[in-house]
Amino acid sequence: MQALFQGKADALREIAQVLDAAEIRHLTIPVPGGWEPRAWLAVASTDAQRAIAAHQRHLDEIITRQGLPVRDIVADFNAEETQCPACLAKWKTAGTTRCPDCGLKFG
Ligand SMILES: [Zn+2]
Repeated sequence: MQALFQGKADALREIAQVLDAAEIRHLTIPVPGGWEPRAWLAVASTDAQRAIAAHQRHLDEIITRQGLPVRDIVADFNAEETQCPACLAKWKTAGTTRCPDCGLKFG
């Protein structure tokens, strides 16, 4: 078994439904103590990657449903030129810590 998530019982219930839909068996273990019910959610070690992927897909779906773009861009300051993950502008990295276009600050 591998414990993948720890959180409020409500949040884990939602993740559990995602895993049910993906037919991934899971187990929840209450975390003792605290003011609100919290739990661990664990899956078989061999299912861990699949469970993480299913959860990530679920998050992407929520973001897409809310009309937010899903982007997988990381500004690379080791490259000569990089792209802003917020506004997609491209600029030269030398001596910059902000996106010259939208002002997003890095570092
Ligand atoms: Zn920008």
